[in-house]
Amino acid sequence: MRRQLPSVEQFVQGIRASDRVLLGQAITLVESAREEHQILAREIIGRLLSPSHTSLTSLRIAVTGAPGVGKSTFIEALGMHLVAQGKRLAVLAIDPSSTVSGGSILGDKTRMEQLSASEKAFIRPSPSGDSLGGVARKTREAIVLVEAAGFDTVIIETVGVGQSEIAAQRMTDVFLLLLLPGAGDELQGIKRGIVEMADFLVVNKTDGDRVKLANQARGHYLNATHLLPPKSSGWQPRVMACSALENMGITEIWEAILEFHSHTLANGFLQENRRQQALYWLEDSIEAGLKTMFYKHPAVKEKLAEVQAEVLAGRMSPTEAAARVLAIVDW
Ligand code: GDP
Repeated sequence: MRRQLPSVEQFVQGIRASDRVLLGQAITLVESAREEHQILAREIIGRLLSPSHTSLTSLRIAVTGAPGVGKSTFIEALGMHLVAQGKRLAVLAIDPSSTVSGGSILGDKTRMEQLSASEKAFIRPSPSGDSLGGVARKTREAIVLVEAAGFDTVIIETVGVGQSEIAAQRMTDVFLLLLLPGAGDELQGIKRGIVEMADFLVVNKTDGDRVKLANQARGHYLNATHLLPPKSSGWQPRVMACSALENMGITEIWEAILEFHSHTLANGFLQENRRQQALYWLEDSIEAGLKTMFYKHPAVKEKLAEVQAEVLAGRMSPTEAAARVLAIVDW
């Protein structure tokens, strides 16, 4: 027997009243692959979407870094600092490993225990999906829902080899990269492009006998950021240090993030960035939709099977085969 879902109106009112159960259920709808859930989710989001990309009451922060760098510990420390100040924080995630069955890098441990217990925090593990794009789109929609429920600070946590960080950057206002003491980016497995994206480079685990190494890392990244071309936000990336475990440096990082926020609000970058992001996700969703529509088409399926055999037998080039399948769609 199927449980009756709440109506759109119940969802909208519940989320506006910050009902966590309804918020969670609405995110589940966003994450669902079922057509009727997707339709319902779109209706709810449509109703809740204040001009969200221009609603500047929220701050969206991407937090990334290699596995083990201390992301959950850092988010917990920062999060506890924020809720103590009366902020309401939602933590969402983009985990590229959730696209394959059998594991997730971010989700499979007990994480952020203190923060999860706080009434002012809402933590949601990464959605899963069959592509990173799909996973990212779901997280992006969830942002609208948590903001409508009154969460004024949203952290998007991610870990990956580049693509998931880019997706996270395209839905946030500020990008924070966590680093380990000592090793340079090659050794930390961090792509140069990710370092270039960062507004904040934070050397975590600056504690105990790692302080010297941490200072070396800071020097290295300070040099690296000075060599980068200026950012269109006009912000000079900040290299900072903290110990998430010992709660050291967290207040300073939050203050610097607020400074970034005021800076980009004042020069209009934040607003323009959100507008461009909205356009990016429009295009991204169209592309995803087109692909699904195309492959669902019976004539496409038939033709595809036919040309696949030809390609396998070496009688047709993949390019020619693709052209024939694409020719089926009559624009
Ligand atoms: P994540 O995989 O990036 O989310 O990393 P975790 O937050 O799970 O942390 C990985 C390990 O590093 C855990 O054992 C943490 O206790 C430890 N850790 C995190 N932050 C710090 C820190 O600031 N100092 C020290 N010494 N250890 C830390």
